Amino acid sequence: MAYVVTEGCIRCKYMDCVSVCPVDCFYAGENMLVIHPDECIDCGVCEPECPAEAIRPDSDLGIGEWAALNARFAQAWPNITEKREPPADADEWKGRPGKAALLSPEPAQP
Ligand code: SF4
Ligand code: SF4
Repeated sequence: MAYVVTEGCIRCKYMDCVSVCPVDCFYAGENMLVIHPDECIDCGVCEPECPAEAIRPDSDLGIGEWAALNARFAQAWPNITEKREPPADADEWKGRPGKAALLSPEPAQP
């Protein structure tokens, strides 16, 4: 079991989740974060912290391809352990449907 970051994070990237994770298992892409499934200890602390309600348990039936995407990008993107400044337009993207096509495969800039 692990938790998974889903579509709601794209272009919101508030990063409140990073501050609370006890094992620092978030990884940062250009416009979203993912959780490393082998490092997540399934504590669930991050789920209620996400303002975009983007974090779900991998047992959630609606999780679709997001579990595989988290596993893949967690190996390609840099680890993130401290909250950074969210995008200036994060609130405009919060809750918008159809963001999956906007997912950038690029890693976050240091
Ligand atoms: S708090 Fe939610 S929206 Fe923000 S980076 Fe974490 S998963 Fe993404
Ligand atoms: S469930 Fe716990 S260990 Fe897993 S990402 Fe969230 S805070 Fe980190």
